[in-house]
Amino acid sequence: MSELNLVLLGPPGSGKGTQGERLQEDLRLPYYATGDILRAAVRDGTEIGRDAKQYMERGDLVPDDVIVGVIGERIHAKEAEDGFILDGFPRTEPQAEALGSKLTELGRELSAAVLIEVDDDEVVRRLGGRRTCPNGHVFHVEFDPPEKPGVCDVCGAELEVREDDQPDVIRRRLEQYHEKTKPLIAYYEGRGLLKHVDGALDAQEVAERIRALLATLKMEEEL
Ligand SMILES: [Zn+2]
Repeated sequence: MSELNLVLLGPPGSGKGTQGERLQEDLRLPYYATGDILRAAVRDGTEIGRDAKQYMERGDLVPDDVIVGVIGERIHAKEAEDGFILDGFPRTEPQAEALGSKLTELGRELSAAVLIEVDDDEVVRRLGGRRTCPNGHVFHVEFDPPEKPGVCDVCGAELEVREDDQPDVIRRRLEQYHEKTKPLIAYYEGRGLLKHVDGALDAQEVAERIRALLATLKMEEEL
């Protein structure tokens, strides 16, 4: 059986995490959200995990080669022999190159980079509509409104817009996202690996589009 080695790309609010989890179930492939596997490596105390821990404890960014090392450990395991789904890494072109080298070293290659596209206004609408109470209950003014505006259904506390969900903060994060991912997207496009999916559709429809494009990919591979 051929492998399905995937990278998921998309802005915050694109539903990337949701799609990653669905793909994990559908394809029975491990789903690696980079933050989670870094924390797991630290917890398990692997050699690379101990490396990563030193950076995290100092509050420094974990260098690309350390992250790639952690990913390499996971990819090289039996659980990922039929493929994997990677989310949260790479975020920049140098990271994509580092990941590419690691895969080559392991005798693997990327099958596709799936870009879930959502325009900035839609991201602001999705994330900016979130309302949170001090006890962590989350609502959305449009998609999941509380019964009484501004009041938490669960605990009755006042709902507020978190700092991260302020429209100007979201726009700033999006600017950074575009600045970093533009070269990354060009990198995968240049290698014929980039697959676009319209992330403005509802989650079910997005999942079906991804499934269809992966089926096509598989067919092409078998020809
Ligand atoms: Zn509450």
